[in-house]
Amino acid sequence: MDSEAFRHWSLKAAEWGVDYRDGLRDRPVRPQVEPGQVLASIEASPPEAAEPMEAIFADFEAKIVPGMTHWQHPRFFAYFPANAAPVSVVAEYLVSAMAAQCMLWQTSPAATELETRVVDWMRQALGLPEAFTGVIQDSASSATLAAVLTMRERALDWQGNKSGLSGAPRIRVYCSEHVHTSIDRAIWIAGIGEENLVRIPTKGRFRAMSAEALDAAIVQDRENGLLPAGIIACVGGTSVGGTDDIAAVVEVARRHGLYTHVDAAWAGSAMICPEFRHFWSGVEGADSIVFNPHKWLGAQFDCSIQFIRDPESLVRTLAIRPEFLKTHGRDGITNYSEWSVPLGRRFRALKLWFLLRAHGLEGLRTMIRNHVAWSEKLAERLHGLPDFEVASEPMLSLFSFRHVPAGVGDLDQHNLALVEAINRDGRIYLTQTRLDGRAVIRFQAGQFEATEADVDKAFEVIVEIALTAG
Ligand code: PLP
Repeated sequence: MDSEAFRHWSLKAAEWGVDYRDGLRDRPVRPQVEPGQVLASIEASPPEAAEPMEAIFADFEAKIVPGMTHWQHPRFFAYFPANAAPVSVVAEYLVSAMAAQCMLWQTSPAATELETRVVDWMRQALGLPEAFTGVIQDSASSATLAAVLTMRERALDWQGNKSGLSGAPRIRVYCSEHVHTSIDRAIWIAGIGEENLVRIPTKGRFRAMSAEALDAAIVQDRENGLLPAGIIACVGGTSVGGTDDIAAVVEVARRHGLYTHVDAAWAGSAMICPEFRHFWSGVEGADSIVFNPHKWLGAQFDCSIQFIRDPESLVRTLAIRPEFLKTHGRDGITNYSEWSVPLGRRFRALKLWFLLRAHGLEGLRTMIRNHVAWSEKLAERLHGLPDFEVASEPMLSLFSFRHVPAGVGDLDQHNLALVEAINRDGRIYLTQTRLDGRAVIRFQAGQFEATEADVDKAFEVIVEIALTAG
């Protein structure tokens, strides 16, 4: 592609992006394709000869776009959002044009130093103390893995990486059943083993780990010759927003000398609003915290910030310094690849910098406050209908509900069928989960450009389709 064609297609892509976003409300949120349909439409063998960009772009529009789920659709109420504010898309275009590999300070000093600055901006925005520094990871899963490896190494007096785990005492990590499955994965990958991830019973409206049960489990494990290493607490669990009492968890951790990692991947964004910070009160006592600006805040995927109290222990766990990665003659530099599992790193700080400057914290706070208020209102409206029950009350903008009409034998099956019917309809997109053994329907408002009318539309669609579903 020569420069002229590069310019032409870049402009065309930019225009396409704007039109795509403008037209999202006219598309079904979830694509109406069958499994294998897209695959069958793509040639089975790679092209030997170059093809014109016109043909490639036309195929993109004809074959790919209709098979996409539209995560930026204002009526995307499923999972959690993966918001890409337009300004962060612009930043990502610049990042992909420069295409720098930002593993070391010297492989892109501006990327490293902007990362240091915007992570500290976010620390201030979330009201965290200066004791925290941080790094942008690709995902919360990676951040949690880095935290679990650090807690493992700390517990093993830094011998795990060197000697392996055979012969080491059995390491134990504690959490509730409401943490995300990325915690299970981190435990597997760290060689700790699923059986050593101890699930602590929960209590209360937000299903917080019982501090007494947590304390008792640690004491019992010690008595049995096991090695407690850390606790993973969640604020805004994926299923129904399960939220631990962080102050109580930190207190137990401190008493036993354990590491505390807090997963606030989704809910962390809301902590830019001081009135929501009670959800993680005590967080300043944690050792690390992960939150994803790529979820609710609007920084295009991927962008996950891990705040760390003692980066030395993280670097001691993960840094490898072969000669070819050394930077000689520069003191005091940071090589962020030493803070994460992958060596290569994208320039993720730029989109966050653009986002924070273009919207300001006040703009982002307004968005989050609106989502929470609209979601609470929707929960109330459903609660007010005889055939609906709110299964878990709103935690920020996430709640779950069930349709419980009289005379339906299998309500689980009925609600699963209802979600599927709603998603097939296409005007809104929801997902289901299990709560206390029952199938429930999740709703979260969080898309960057959603309006109150979009949430009202969700009410209409849910009620209309539930009526026809019986
Ligand atoms: N933690 C929570 C609470 C989540 O909801 C999710 C994903 O939805 C994750 C962790 C994993 O996030 P990531 O995709 O960034 O690894």
